[in-house]
Amino acid sequence: MNAPTQITPTGIGAEWSPQWLLTPEQRALQADLIALCETTLRPNAIESDKKYIYPRKNFEALASMGLLSLTIPKELGGRGESHVCAAMVVETIARYGCPSTAMCYTMHLGACAAALLRHHDNERLKDILRRVDADVLIGTLSYSDPETGSHFWYPMSSRAERTDNGWKVFKKASWTTSGGFADWYIIQTTSPDFGGDYSNLSCFLVTKDQIHADPANWDGLGMRGNQSGPISVDGVDIAPDALVGPIGDGAKSNDEVVDPFFLVCSSACWNGICLAAMDITKNHTTRKVHNDVGMRVADYPTIQDYVGECLIDTNASRSYVYLAAKALDDLTDGCDWSAHATIDHLPRTQILNWLWQVKFFASKNVTFVVDKMLHACGGTGYKPALGIERLLRDGKAGWVMGPTNEVLRQFVGKAALLGFEVLDYWNQSVNQRVLNNELKKMSKDEKAAFASKLLAEAQA
Ligand SMILES: Cc1cc2nc3c(=O)[nH]c(=O)nc-3n(C[C@H](O)[C@H](O)[C@H](O)COP(=O)(O)OP(=O)(O)OC[C@H]3O[C@@H](n4cnc5c(N)ncnc54)[C@H](O)[C@@H]3O)c2cc1C
Repeated sequence: MNAPTQITPTGIGAEWSPQWLLTPEQRALQADLIALCETTLRPNAIESDKKYIYPRKNFEALASMGLLSLTIPKELGGRGESHVCAAMVVETIARYGCPSTAMCYTMHLGACAAALLRHHDNERLKDILRRVDADVLIGTLSYSDPETGSHFWYPMSSRAERTDNGWKVFKKASWTTSGGFADWYIIQTTSPDFGGDYSNLSCFLVTKDQIHADPANWDGLGMRGNQSGPISVDGVDIAPDALVGPIGDGAKSNDEVVDPFFLVCSSACWNGICLAAMDITKNHTTRKVHNDVGMRVADYPTIQDYVGECLIDTNASRSYVYLAAKALDDLTDGCDWSAHATIDHLPRTQILNWLWQVKFFASKNVTFVVDKMLHACGGTGYKPALGIERLLRDGKAGWVMGPTNEVLRQFVGKAALLGFEVLDYWNQSVNQRVLNNELKKMSKDEKAAFASKLLAEAQA
């Protein structure tokens, strides 16, 4: 068997990675990134987790390698890289470096994608995109709303108004990765002409000086470097071209870029955490010896079975992520942003249902794998010093990050059984079956009272 030529530190070997998916340039990038993770990102990860420190130092290191502009086209000074490469980079950061950084970086790639979708005639967006590496300009996505929880597509507490000089924007976000530390934010609010229709959403660009955050209050089981606390934008006046795309573009932006980049890259992060846990397990169990029987822990078939099952499951998850990323590359000619100058060119949207499945699978798998690797390392795994305990806490974020896994399996099951039209994101279509069934339960008097109420409402 020909093992791929790839630098790997200790841990599960490169022959267990789908290196054949990468171009020679991407393999070289991966090797350089692994080296950077070993020297810089991983030591910072431990400090970030212990002291809740935002991993800006890691972003500076990534910028020095030109990685903040990974998917930005070459004409704007970026690397012009593909979805497959983005998945590889996030997985590598999570595996060899720092999961918190990998998640902040995922949000940065999502923000870049939202800007790139509509940058063509927008000098403000182009200016930021050109400077992301040189000035270490970290982007993020601020969507989740305190009133609607994980239904991040429903920004009930946010709105925008048209003014003589642009827009006045009000945003309340319950969670924002890199909140208060990112330099620029893509936020979503209802549109200035919204009129009660919550599917009418718009995206805006705001900068660090225009938001309020309270990072000192950030706390969480894991992903402690993320600083994913609430932020607000309190009636801030912003320029006309801080509107990202046309008014009402929010739903298209969600389905075409925000969701696809988040779902694929965050899944790559969960896979990277699984691999990191298996790397630690290999290093520990091949060194620890039980002198009574003269065996290493790795010599027990039980431990081999743990690693075998987890590697098979994780490579199934990685196959899913890379399949989806490759499909996105095929649909977009390798993540070419120029075709989006045509406003309704929305190729990624066609396979969004596949991306839901990818995220569900990866974030379900990570909790299983990290738990099993902790078991394989015994009491030593339970202690923070080995590093699995931190990965276990970090991996737990996957299931609850929106779209949560409860929501995703509902979407998939419901759409598979009844069609996509029944998903009703914005609570707009009446479920006649439920309505009729509830009405059946009413007495004559209750029906009459209800009918009067409805008539009064209709007349009003
Ligand atoms: C580490 C981390 C980083 C984050 N970063 C960001 C970010 O950068 N930007 C951002 O916008 N958000 C971010 N979020 C927020 C995230 O996307 C979710 O919005 C958040 O985790 C939801 O928490 P909640 O308490 O509001 O959950 P709730 O929505 O109240 O959910 C509670 C329970 O109800 C379930 N549930 C909710 N709706 C349904 C439904 N329709 N059907 C069935 N079950 C349902 C949920 O799955 C869950 O089990 C982050 C979250 C975490 C943990």
